[in-house]
Amino acid sequence: MLRGSCLCGGVKYQIDGRLSCAMNCHCSMCRKAQGSAFRSRASLRSADLKFVQGEELLTFYESSPGNHRGFCRVCGSPILSKFDDHPKYYGLPLGALDDDPGVEPKLHVHVSSKAPWFTITDDLPQLPGAPQ
Ligand SMILES: [Zn+2]
Ligand SMILES: [Zn+2]
Repeated sequence: MLRGSCLCGGVKYQIDGRLSCAMNCHCSMCRKAQGSAFRSRASLRSADLKFVQGEELLTFYESSPGNHRGFCRVCGSPILSKFDDHPKYYGLPLGALDDDPGVEPKLHVHVSSKAPWFTITDDLPQLPGAPQ
């Protein structure tokens, strides 16, 4: 069981399942959505995530067609992404987790959009665009 919550504590969720596809995304949309150099994210089955409280605070922004980024409307914390093409999966920004997910990002993607002020200093693979 993994727990996560937003900055204000209004949204709390639990995950009963495995996270997969952990990676750091350097695309400009993720940078803006996170307000940081990149977004560390993973995938999970949508059926594995349950809201403990505050689901009504979740607000979605469709950052590109079919990609809905959900955030807490009180504090702005990114909570999850929904995909029209893959409704059985969510994208999960790792920063909102309160527990160790037991996975770590294994690659950098969209490195061609990387912030000029950030240097990748690890040895993980770097892809210029999206993962295959
Ligand atoms: Zn919040
Ligand atoms: Zn991205």
